[in-house]
Amino acid sequence: MTTELSADALSGLLEQARKDYQDLAGRGLSLNLTRGKPAPEQLDLSADLLSLPAGRHTAADGTDVRNYGGLQGLLEIREIFADVLQVPVGQLLAAGNSSLELMHDCLVHALLSVLPGAESRWVDQERIAFLCPVPGYDRHFALCERFGIEMIPVPMTAEGPDMAVVERLVAEDPAVKGIWCVPKYSNPDGVCYSDATVARLAAMSAAAPDFRIFWDNAYAAHHLTDEPAEIADLLAACAEAGNPDRAFVFGSTSKITAAGAGVAFFGSSPANVQWLLGNNAKRSIGPDKVNQLRHAMFLRDADGVRAHMERQRALLQPKFEMVARILETELGGTGLARWTDPKGGYFVTLEVPDGCAKEVVRRAAQAGIVLTPAGATHPYGDDPRDATIRIAPSYPGLAELEQAIEGLAVCVRLVGYEQQAA
Ligand code: PMP
Repeated sequence: MTTELSADALSGLLEQARKDYQDLAGRGLSLNLTRGKPAPEQLDLSADLLSLPAGRHTAADGTDVRNYGGLQGLLEIREIFADVLQVPVGQLLAAGNSSLELMHDCLVHALLSVLPGAESRWVDQERIAFLCPVPGYDRHFALCERFGIEMIPVPMTAEGPDMAVVERLVAEDPAVKGIWCVPKYSNPDGVCYSDATVARLAAMSAAAPDFRIFWDNAYAAHHLTDEPAEIADLLAACAEAGNPDRAFVFGSTSKITAAGAGVAFFGSSPANVQWLLGNNAKRSIGPDKVNQLRHAMFLRDADGVRAHMERQRALLQPKFEMVARILETELGGTGLARWTDPKGGYFVTLEVPDGCAKEVVRRAAQAGIVLTPAGATHPYGDDPRDATIRIAPSYPGLAELEQAIEGLAVCVRLVGYEQQAA
């Protein structure tokens, strides 16, 4: 990434960066770019949810949503999201408010009760490992750490995880029980898995009979351009390849309607769905069907979701464009940074010279700009190159975002030129 500079040129750039940083630190900023949260204006788009279901308490099939039962979730909300998540409606569960909870529960259930196709529970095995495409989502990694599941990093490519590495590890090592995938507009680098990647994931041979793909399609409908990305249907590909029980599909309305107050979904093969329903039956007498009805009334159908996501896009796209514009103006041609230009999702990945990410984050924090900790995008918080920074532009307003990204660029110049001068 670095370009050669003469000693004079470098010292001039470093002096300027130091001055800019002093100015920045003197401004008393208090800005936060850490988590991918919707901004209040995005939440306002779903304000009608707060007055629904407006006295109605009967679902389309006559179910009284105020009462217990209906573990699979309301048909009308499953019908809307079957299309969005590429899961046949009969194999889709509508559950609680969080897909992360469903992922957590699937891990716990797999540890404690035998999965379809498995010989024993995961907890009875000496070693359990998951493949973790990097950079990835810190909360996936936190779940693995929580349950003592070893994490094996796999590099990402522009088409998804490096499949040659994935195929070798999954074929050779029976302790490899799963892989984390965010297949569309991945967190954090915005990658969309290619059809070839999906086909290889579905068809590869696995040493573990109970190998599972945790397909976290959190950004299935979250486009930032006129050309929504389409990904191949993993569940169908697994069935066709003779591995029908391989995929666990997750999704939620957290970044469609209300974050943490939406509806989460699980889709899989009939055998896996029965396995999860059986386990969930011990855990709950039924999901919050009032919320599910409210969501079905508000979103109406898959076209309703698409129209709603266009309104989300109108709010988000200018923020992503602003990030790209400032990074280009401030860092383009310096050789100090590369960044992603995502076509959807919630994040921009900024890559700085090796050994600089932690220091950039530290300097930014000192100047009042809080970023996701460097390393969070890697298992055990350890980015071996110390080069990846995740930017979450959704929450701040445009004026704050502008200040934050300009400030971040100053920190990158400061740390990058300091390293070159050292
Ligand atoms: N998966 C990914 C990839 C995410 O980025 C997020 C939110 N940041 C979640 C899951 C959390 O989803 P939920 O609110 O449904 O638990």
